[in-house]
Amino acid sequence: MSRASRVIVIGAGLAGLSAACYLRADGHEVTVLEREPLPGGRSTRITQDGFAFDIGATVLTMPSLIDDALRQVGATVERAIPMKRLDPAYLARYADGSTLRVRGDRDAMREEIRRVCGDRDADAFDPFVAWLERLYDLELPHFIDANLERLWDLARHPLAAAKLVATGAFGSLDRAVSRRFADDRLRKLFTFQAMYAGLAPTDALAIYAVITYMDSIAGVYAPEGGMYAVPRAMADAAAAAGVTFHYDTTVTALARSGNRISGVQLDTGDVVPADAVVCTLDVPTAYRLLLPDLSPPRVLSRAKYAPSAAVWHLGVKGGAPEGAVHHNIHFADAWERSFVELIDQRRMMTDPSRLVTIPTVDDPQLAPEGCSTLYVLEPVPNLGGPTDWRSETPRLRERLLNFLETQGYPTDIVTERLYTPIDWQAMGMAEGTPFALAHTFMQTGPFRPGNREKRLPGLFFAGSGTTPGVGVPMVLISGKLAATRVREYAP
Ligand SMILES: Cc1cc2nc3c(=O)[nH]c(=O)nc-3n(C[C@H](O)[C@H](O)[C@H](O)COP(=O)(O)OP(=O)(O)OC[C@H]3O[C@@H](n4cnc5c(N)ncnc54)[C@H](O)[C@@H]3O)c2cc1C
Repeated sequence: MSRASRVIVIGAGLAGLSAACYLRADGHEVTVLEREPLPGGRSTRITQDGFAFDIGATVLTMPSLIDDALRQVGATVERAIPMKRLDPAYLARYADGSTLRVRGDRDAMREEIRRVCGDRDADAFDPFVAWLERLYDLELPHFIDANLERLWDLARHPLAAAKLVATGAFGSLDRAVSRRFADDRLRKLFTFQAMYAGLAPTDALAIYAVITYMDSIAGVYAPEGGMYAVPRAMADAAAAAGVTFHYDTTVTALARSGNRISGVQLDTGDVVPADAVVCTLDVPTAYRLLLPDLSPPRVLSRAKYAPSAAVWHLGVKGGAPEGAVHHNIHFADAWERSFVELIDQRRMMTDPSRLVTIPTVDDPQLAPEGCSTLYVLEPVPNLGGPTDWRSETPRLRERLLNFLETQGYPTDIVTERLYTPIDWQAMGMAEGTPFALAHTFMQTGPFRPGNREKRLPGLFFAGSGTTPGVGVPMVLISGKLAATRVREYAP
């Protein structure tokens, strides 16, 4: 393919935006087609009664990956997305009333552990961080930021693979953490991130401790203007570098010439020609809507989807309660039982842990004067379970309201919006989960749906349904990996 070919990116979520930046840097003529009026996808913005809500991602980690993408189009994070590192990254609140702050600085974190959990666990912190760093350094370049398609691709870096095994990456995450820390509160704090990958901490392999590393050690950031500042800045930088964006534009079919991709068809009936297409729809949805004549990747026939999340956005009168910070995790007493209920039985947790994010703590402009925005997330089953969301939604709202009142959050509600798995499904997410296929070992790396469709040359995938996986850092990498595929493609 000539260097300056026409590439269409379907979707202006973070995966699509990342792909657009890397593709543009390769000299392609890039057009992004987005169904919604704004960029961002699961990190987009809704504005209601003067309150600005980020609908999905709120915990921003690894801004260097955003910087990498921005630099492809002549911008930088520093200039385009002013942000601050949160300290504490989280306030962990436990059922017994105790609290623990995840501090931004290692010395401060060690001393926080000493204060709350004692000397033994404080002394275990530095070796724990060293272990996480080893895992991260081995995994990121060789197994995450890499196009892995077949099992033997894993053997491309035998030394790194051997070191990973020696590091204990294929043991249990829960045991790896429990072995190091005696206090159960730290066990919860350093393993709950497995849920981001759709796994119970007790079932997750220690390789997923890289999420703990990104989340609790490498830092959590708050962009000025909220999370939406990230897709907004990426879209603006890409546009300034020559990428064309069409919003309110839905792709309904893929156009073909012979057995190759030749463009896309829009809901208006228009066909937009292209030499290659990067599709960022959830992969099962892409096959259902855009590739009905091709069988989906085999892994999807017995797919295990991550649990979903209900998110209640509230615009309220008043400020954050004393002591509350940007991200507040309320750990329930129940632990193993909760994951059995949520993941194995696919029903609501009887004693759920919840995340309450208060973006206005750091950015009051997201709400009218004297008001706050609250974002309450409860993990809930995906639509593979028996929950009837028509009857469950009002009950869930009542429980969340009761929880907020009990915990002292302001509940003088001006405006609100509750997202459930039904909403995620309506947005095109298979099984009503915004977290895609769970990262079980057999749905990770070369076992996850790949990012190219060999039966339709010129079609590539990015986003959380393909490699490397779910979450802002991973989908940014997925955009880069898809651009690499386009570079390698020669019709
Ligand atoms: C509630 C929630 C909380 C989360 N919390 C975090 C967090 O704290 N930290 C973190 O790192 N990650 C978090 N995530 C995950 C993260 O947001 C996602 O993994 C990531 O944003 C997905 O990006 P994407 O580009 O793959 O998909 P999307 O953002 O879904 O982008 C796909 C885009 O394609 C568009 N589209 C779909 N169909 C069509 C079509 N036919 N034609 C044109 N356009 C189309 C969609 O409108 C959308 O804009 C969270 C997600 C949710 C929902």
